[in-house]
Amino acid sequence: MEKFLKNSIYLLIIIIALLVFLIFYKIFPFSVYWQQLLVSFESVDVQENELTPPVSSDEVPLKTEERASLFMVGDALIHSAVYADADADTGSGYDFRPMISEVKEISKNYDLAFYNQETILGGSELGLSSYPRFNSPYEVGDAFIDAGFNLVSLANNHTLDRGETAILNSHQYWSQHPEVMTAGSFSSWDDMNQVNIGEVNGIRYAFLAYTDWTNGLIVPSGKEYLLARYTNELAKQDIEKVRDQVDVVIVSMHFGDEYSLNVSSRQREIATYLASLGVDIVIGHHPHVVEPIEMIDDTLVIYSLGNFISAQRGVEKLTGMMFSMDIVKTTEAGVSQITFKNMKAGLVYTYSDTINGIRRNFKVYPYQNLTEELLPNHEMYYNKYMNLILQNVSNIERW
Ligand SMILES: [Zn+2]
Repeated sequence: MEKFLKNSIYLLIIIIALLVFLIFYKIFPFSVYWQQLLVSFESVDVQENELTPPVSSDEVPLKTEERASLFMVGDALIHSAVYADADADTGSGYDFRPMISEVKEISKNYDLAFYNQETILGGSELGLSSYPRFNSPYEVGDAFIDAGFNLVSLANNHTLDRGETAILNSHQYWSQHPEVMTAGSFSSWDDMNQVNIGEVNGIRYAFLAYTDWTNGLIVPSGKEYLLARYTNELAKQDIEKVRDQVDVVIVSMHFGDEYSLNVSSRQREIATYLASLGVDIVIGHHPHVVEPIEMIDDTLVIYSLGNFISAQRGVEKLTGMMFSMDIVKTTEAGVSQITFKNMKAGLVYTYSDTINGIRRNFKVYPYQNLTEELLPNHEMYYNKYMNLILQNVSNIERW
């Protein structure tokens, strides 16, 4: 009797399992896959067209959207007070990471993050130096890479400060970090002639950098690749080479007048020319202070991001811009279009205190993290510089 009961239960289980299978087999939306799975076990001929998942015009995506996020900050000006402080805590080497840790919390979240390495990373072995002829340790680069920065401008009025050796050292350093794309200074003609194209989330971008200034220093004759000195001709040639190969052209421009909060006619002339060549984003820096943002047709022009980190003095020079945006690529019927979304501008402040006449504890703070102790009246400064930055645009949010 017990055996009969056991057998009945087994039979019942098998029947239920079969029923469940048949129900799924008939009604499950992926029944085609079941058929594929079972085709070798079935005697019934399954025609090939039944094996192919049905494609109706409703299921072909009409519009696809791809998105890459971009973050940017301005000049890393590593004065001796900054590198001395980076060595002060341990005495065992330079560590700039704590100085930018507050910004890292933001920058690490982006697909692309830009900054201008104003002072050359020629390395300690060459002897470090400050204004007017800078040379900075490689550990500066380590800190920025650690914080997620991967677009670095090397073209500015300090690139030539310590000559060809420092530039080649800098290239040696950056070449060990292929995750970072540098622009504006090259180690050879071959290096310069390579197109600087990257791709992120299905969006292809080109990254170029130029300086309008060299502080009177002359690029060694025959080695003009060491520094991309801006001319309309060079920009045109470079941009035409990449324009059709990418979705977005990003140009970093070291231009403008130092300590001027206003856009110069020269800056506007260059930006207008770049816009006419189809450049999508112009990232400007050099004045050491922030300047207004403008749109020239569809081209976003950030004239000056200001300083990111430095030992300059005064709130104006210790305040820089941080900017965030999404580059959105919409493709419809095989035609792609680029738009900018979620554009947001904010400020950063380089804090330091003075102990026995020596500036110490350098740290860059997003303004929203500031306290009255770190910067008295920071709200007043925030409003002042944000109003200045956004005076000519209405589609950019405040951070
Ligand atoms: Zn500069």
